[in-house]
Amino acid sequence: MPSTIIAIDGPSASGKGTIARMIAEELDYAYLDTGLLYRAVGMLAMSDGINLEDKAAIAAFAETLSVTAIINKLSAPALRSDEAATAASKVAPIPAVRAKLLKFQQDFGASPPEGKKGAVLDGRDIGTIIAPNAKVKIYVTADTAVRAQRRWKELQKRGETATYADVLADLRARDERDTKRSAAPALPATDAVILDNTRINAKETFAEAMKIVSKALATD
Ligand code: C5P
Repeated sequence: MPSTIIAIDGPSASGKGTIARMIAEELDYAYLDTGLLYRAVGMLAMSDGINLEDKAAIAAFAETLSVTAIINKLSAPALRSDEAATAASKVAPIPAVRAKLLKFQQDFGASPPEGKKGAVLDGRDIGTIIAPNAKVKIYVTADTAVRAQRRWKELQKRGETATYADVLADLRARDERDTKRSAAPALPATDAVILDNTRINAKETFAEAMKIVSKALATD
C-alpha cells in the first residue's frame, strides 16, 4: 500500500504546525515539520560565518552541506527562535538549498518512519512541490494581525521582550520573502482547501481540518 500523504501549508504563525501534529497523532501517521529543515540550514550557515544576504555564498555552502548534518541539528532548541526563523527565510529562496532538502522530504512522505501508513508534512510548498499528489492538501491561514498577536503572546510566555510592532514587522517581512521568491513561492496549491482560522481557536481549527481529511480519505 503506498503511503498516504497529508500536506499542510500556510504562512508563519498560522497554526499549521499545531494542526499538522494533531492530525498525525489522530491518524497515527508520521509527522515532519519541514520548516525545521530550513531553520537548521539557516543556523548552520550562520555558525559557519556565511553572510545571509550573499546568495552565491549560501548556494556554495548548501552544496557542501550533508543532509545528515541538517538532520542532526533538528532537535536544537535554538531552531525555535525568531532568529532561526529569519535565517530560514533568507536561505529558503536559494534553489541549491531547496534541492538539498527535496529528496529527504519526498522520501519521508513515501516511506514514513516506523512503518507508519501515512505522513503529515507541514511547510510552504508541500502541496505544490514536495507532494503534488498528496491525498489531502490544506492551506491554513489567518489575518496577519491575528497571526502576529498569537506569535507575540507566545514570545511573551517564553519571557522574550519583543514588542508587538516588531513581531508584526518581522512577520510581514517574512511573508513578503516567502511569497515573492521565485523558487517554490509559499502559495496554496490550486487544489488545496483553504482553512482560515482568523476567528476560530486551535481546537476548532483541528475539528475543521479533520472534516476535510476524513472526507478526502473516504474517497479511496
Ligand atoms: O514554518 P517555519 O516558520 O518554521 O518556516 C521557517 C521558514 O522556512 C519560512 O519562513 C520559509 O522561508 C521556510 N520554509 C520554506 N519551505 C518550507 C518550510 C519552511 O521555504 N516547506
